[in-house]
Amino acid sequence: MINSLVTKAAETHTLNREELVSLLRIQEAPVLFEAADRIRQQYVGDGVYLRALIEFSNYCKNDCLYCGIRKSNLRVHRYRLTPEQILQTARQAVSYGYKTIVLQSGEDLWFNTDTLCYIIREIKKLDVALTLSIGEKSREEYAAYRQAGADRYLLRIETTDKNLYEKLDPGLSWDRRVQCLYDLKELGYEVGSGSLVGLPGQTVASLANDLLFFQKLPVDMAGIGPFIPHPQTPLANEKTDGHFELSLKMMAVMRLLLPDINIPATTAMESLHPDGRLLALKSGANVVMPNATDREFRPFYELYPGKICLGDSAEKCRGCIESKIKSIGRYVENAKGFHGDYLKNK
Ligand code: SAM
Repeated sequence: MINSLVTKAAETHTLNREELVSLLRIQEAPVLFEAADRIRQQYVGDGVYLRALIEFSNYCKNDCLYCGIRKSNLRVHRYRLTPEQILQTARQAVSYGYKTIVLQSGEDLWFNTDTLCYIIREIKKLDVALTLSIGEKSREEYAAYRQAGADRYLLRIETTDKNLYEKLDPGLSWDRRVQCLYDLKELGYEVGSGSLVGLPGQTVASLANDLLFFQKLPVDMAGIGPFIPHPQTPLANEKTDGHFELSLKMMAVMRLLLPDINIPATTAMESLHPDGRLLALKSGANVVMPNATDREFRPFYELYPGKICLGDSAEKCRGCIESKIKSIGRYVENAKGFHGDYLKNK
């Protein structure tokens, strides 16, 4: 039964909700992981794309119950890089060979459209692809960033369970978040979304709905991360049991449904399991986003506890991930040009 579902998913890339639930519940997960690995190799090859992640501000106007940098967490040391510091970090990342820069932050209103567009234009002069992950903005703002040169945008839906989302993200509207994703698509961004796995109250049926949502959009990239409770949040006492395994299964099923998209092996995976990112790369993932933020600021971008590489330099992270990737018989994709563009996978 499970073998035939895996085969059906690998061959048709289509499953209904009940079938997805059955796959997410399977105990014989190696069958699923091997199929996802095979499809990954067939559609996107053995190369792994590296994206340099710059966490440029941990100020946030939002109060998501799960997030360590939520505005009500008064114990976080808040920091914000200046535009020049962001550009300097990006230049350094390019010198280590990165061909994509990802700018991520809390929803920090200090960065107005003009400032962000200036940063985007300057980074694009470095001849790299640029991804933004700065939350919900108006369509006009998204259009301005795109016009300035931004290529990709990451905005996780977190969960497609609207009630759960609005409970965990007070003041935010689920419909508005979905609208943001459609606006980004229409404006020509490569769009990434994704889920948090293991949220209190989240069901396997709702995770199956997440997968159908990603397929319908469709996303060009999707990041699946286990939810890891942060001690200074209202969800501090939640558990992480099973979150890693379920995240890996979500990711593998996603590879079967959307065989040619870019799927990151997320940092949160490795925060829960010492080989988390390698296991993810062997179960459908083809992207890693090493931290390129200056060591001085890393500890303060604490979305969840146990985040890896907090004491490491950007240079060390670059070298370390490359040797890990080689250790499983894969290689860092160093192709010139517009690097790791989803559309080029086609
Ligand atoms: N503000 C932007 C946004 O809303 O998309 C980007 C920054 S946000 C902090 C990046 C991601 O961190 C979120 O999409 C969420 O999935 C993840 N995250 C937050 N808290 C987490 C936790 N406790 N465990 C795992 N991931 C978490």
